[in-house]
Amino acid sequence: MPNALEQLLLPAECLLCRNLLAFTEADHLVCAPCRYRWRPIRSPWCDRCGQPGPSFGPCRLCAQWPAALVWARSAVWLDAGARDAVHALKYRGLGRVAQDLADVMVRHLPRPPAGAALVPVPLAPRRQRERGYNQSARLAAALSARWEIPLRDCLIRRRETRTQTALTPEARLANVAGAFQTRNAAAGPCILVDDVFTTGATLVAAAAALAAAGVQEIGAVTFGRASVPDFI
Ligand SMILES: [Zn+2]
Ligand SMILES: [Zn+2]
Repeated sequence: MPNALEQLLLPAECLLCRNLLAFTEADHLVCAPCRYRWRPIRSPWCDRCGQPGPSFGPCRLCAQWPAALVWARSAVWLDAGARDAVHALKYRGLGRVAQDLADVMVRHLPRPPAGAALVPVPLAPRRQRERGYNQSARLAAALSARWEIPLRDCLIRRRETRTQTALTPEARLANVAGAFQTRNAAAGPCILVDDVFTTGATLVAAAAALAAAGVQEIGAVTFGRASVPDFI
């Protein structure tokens, strides 16, 4: 839905708590108190995959990652309000909420190195047609404006993968393997952008496609991080 139409249809109240938005917050869908309530991910974490927790020996989450995928970080835990905001972005047609998510990402994530480009994780064409937009592309565009680094839309999703919720980490990797290919990929450093990190399987598959196209240094940022399922 175009932004102007959204603004006409939506009352100026916070998407999450329903309190009226301050005049200075008119650009936002989520009020400042709700945004500050999202819980940032804090160290100690694995230096590579950003998974919080004490580490003894090699990290089990990222030990099998392709060598080119050198770091990943998420801004906040995917609990209550943050989960609702992602839901609004993905399933309620509220693409504009990406601006609020990007504000929080910029606040909590390291500024990417100069010379890097942001690469949104794509949806399969059918899913994108249904949704009208790719939520990761919305996030990447908002981050590109804030960090002033270029956007490189160089990944294609060949097929949608079935829902990963109930799968073990190994099954998730198998589920997304080969799901991506590149178009016009340049070899410079890339930073993948996605909405949520759960086990990293989607990022791994996307990174594998970039690495196959000659990209040697890949990072990844997501807005949310789901708490790790018990089986990890
Ligand atoms: Zn609120
Ligand atoms: Zn790790």
